[in-house]
Amino acid sequence: MGGLVFGGSGSATGGAGGSRLVRPEYEVCSSTFNRYVIGNAHLKILAENCFEWVEGPVWMGDAGCLLFSDIPNNRICRWTEETGVSTYRCPSNYANGHTRDRQGRLISCEHGTRRVTRTEHDGSITVVADQFEGRKLNSPNDVVVKSDGSIWFTDPHYGIATDYEGYRSEQELSCNVYRVDPTDGAMEAVATDFQCPNGLAFSPDESLLYISDTGAAYDPSAERHIRVFDVVDGCSLRRGDVFHKVDVGVSDGIRLDSDGNVWSSAGDGVHCISPQGKLLGKILVPEKVSNLCFGGRAKHVLFMTGFTSVYSIVVNRSGVQWP
Ligand code: MG
Repeated sequence: MGGLVFGGSGSATGGAGGSRLVRPEYEVCSSTFNRYVIGNAHLKILAENCFEWVEGPVWMGDAGCLLFSDIPNNRICRWTEETGVSTYRCPSNYANGHTRDRQGRLISCEHGTRRVTRTEHDGSITVVADQFEGRKLNSPNDVVVKSDGSIWFTDPHYGIATDYEGYRSEQELSCNVYRVDPTDGAMEAVATDFQCPNGLAFSPDESLLYISDTGAAYDPSAERHIRVFDVVDGCSLRRGDVFHKVDVGVSDGIRLDSDGNVWSSAGDGVHCISPQGKLLGKILVPEKVSNLCFGGRAKHVLFMTGFTSVYSIVVNRSGVQWP
């Protein structure tokens, strides 16, 4: 699946906060994608070769920083334009995905403690979820908060399968997707037929929920697609058709823009997929991309976590995640 590749002169110059600027390479599969990229925009390598496996980027607009997880090094890092990278929290309990709720609080998935937590404004930690029907969660991976305050997260087994990014432990539950009610904290398994549910994101009107399955991360014959569900009455899921299957790697993290396009991480960068499930184009990145988020003044900066480095690029779309 391909198309025209352009850009990529390989030139590099110094950037703010120690970043390095590279001419980006795009793969255009639809002329629509030409309107989504900006010719003068550089691929910024914000920090490189100083991480083990980075994941879970979340834009903290009011603080002007990006947080992300360096999972095997058991830390959450912080990046700002002015100061570059510093440690935000260590140990992080092998945290993976993050998001923010409507009060701006950080919601985090932790492999090591097999739980989802909320960091309160005073810095204290509240446990959102750590078990279901009396059994420990596996290793929550990624999380999203709906506008009603409900917290939806995926629970594959990656963090307990080895000692690499958590603690190797016995699996007590299937790899499900859960919803935590905003009023009483009640938890419900809303999808139970995944191999390894991973990234998840709502459509702009929250009528759809996209969830990736990265079963193929360990088993090449397993699933590597994004499914789309109807959100029923704001609290349950129906259907779950296959929406798109990336052609390189897996769709670990996904985010949507305000037009309903799905931006997915992949083995060769970030893929932009139309609401109809058609690949529009790719931003090619020098290494596998694990996750992404929109940030910056107008949610027009795409931040991407790769294997060992963190990248950003300005695009001509705006992300819908809040805040
Ligand atoms: Mg993930």
